[in-house]
Amino acid sequence: MKADIKSVSETDLRAQLAAWGESAYRAAQVLDWIYRRGATDWEQMTNLPRPLREKLGQTFAHQVLELVRQQGARDTTRKFLWRLADHALIESVLIPANPALYGDASDRHTLCISTQVGCAYGCKFCASGLDGWKRNLRVEEIVDQALAVERLARAGFRMTDAAPDAAMAAPATRPPAPDTRTVNNLVVMGMGEPLANYDNLLAALRLLNAPWGGGIGARKITISTSGLVPEIRRLAAEPEQFRLAISLHGATDAVRNRLMPVNRKYPLAALADAGDEYQRRKGRMITLEYILIAGVNDALEEAAPLAALARRLHAKVNLIPYNAVEGLPWERPAEAAQERFLAALEARGVTATLRREKGHDIDAACGQLRLKTGRELAAPAERPA
Ligand code: SAH
Ligand code: SF4
Repeated sequence: MKADIKSVSETDLRAQLAAWGESAYRAAQVLDWIYRRGATDWEQMTNLPRPLREKLGQTFAHQVLELVRQQGARDTTRKFLWRLADHALIESVLIPANPALYGDASDRHTLCISTQVGCAYGCKFCASGLDGWKRNLRVEEIVDQALAVERLARAGFRMTDAAPDAAMAAPATRPPAPDTRTVNNLVVMGMGEPLANYDNLLAALRLLNAPWGGGIGARKITISTSGLVPEIRRLAAEPEQFRLAISLHGATDAVRNRLMPVNRKYPLAALADAGDEYQRRKGRMITLEYILIAGVNDALEEAAPLAALARRLHAKVNLIPYNAVEGLPWERPAEAAQERFLAALEARGVTATLRREKGHDIDAACGQLRLKTGRELAAPAERPA
């Protein structure tokens, strides 16, 4: 199988071009087409000589995600459902800037991306794990979620106009300046457990982070994990300053065991040590994600151990009212109960946020679109793409 161009580093591309006796600047031209101009076909790379385009096409694949469905309106959360080459479905979610959460005040959009088809970790509240785990995403399938959204954004999010030819025929073929990009914040919180696809995740994030690639700063990339302790430690040793979010959801082993099977393998004490190491090595505040589920983890007694852990890890707490999942018994607490829980954390000196706007529920939105559409598409009355 040919390597996809969206999984190839600048160094490797240069080496390949040098081996063909091509000038060094050709690598920059190819990368510019892929990462800045949104080329979806070698034929669009009109400043490359035709024989070189042909050679590139024979050597590298350039398979792009197929958009199946798009939901949401301008300036609100927008969900994208993609079909992969093997017909598996994955999703990405684009949300307008919410400076308090994962980025800085200047940020405009955050894209939530998936890393696996399904999830093997089977958290009791989560839609992503309901149908089990199918496979890891390939490097280019992770990278292209960001590139495909940029391509669509440039076509005004019109599904038909985003077809390669229409996009290329548009008068604005000048590469957009980095500050006109739509996605400048990434959260790896879509379907799947990112740290269970470690190598592909890291390779993809490096391509999206590279100045010649996606150009998204490492500090604007947040990886969310359900708590894979060895991989958190491994990530702590990487040179990049990626942000870490730990999906905690319970501040005692009793509560966490009930919700997350992974806690039996890596209980809270081990997870806290790994979080501590990450925080110390990066010098960055980590985030503890805490879904509030009525009658399960929202009692005020839970706030004390949660606050203690947050303070130990110098972490902020992100409270997320549970988003009901069809077929699962869990519910979100009443608003007053959510506010009380938040106040209890704040009273203990913890920095905490409570997700109030429904449309901005990125964590919650992730993982729920594919399941629904997957079942609809599997039904006889199939919707045309
Ligand atoms: N597997 C990783 C990343 C994907 S899940 C992880 O677990 O961290 C991203 C976040 O969405 C997690 O914090 C997860 O617990 C949360 N989530 C999943 N289902 C949810 C739901 N129904 N409502 C609210 N948050 C949910
Ligand atoms: Fe997997 Fe994360 Fe969902 Fe747990 S919360 S099942 S780890 S995607």
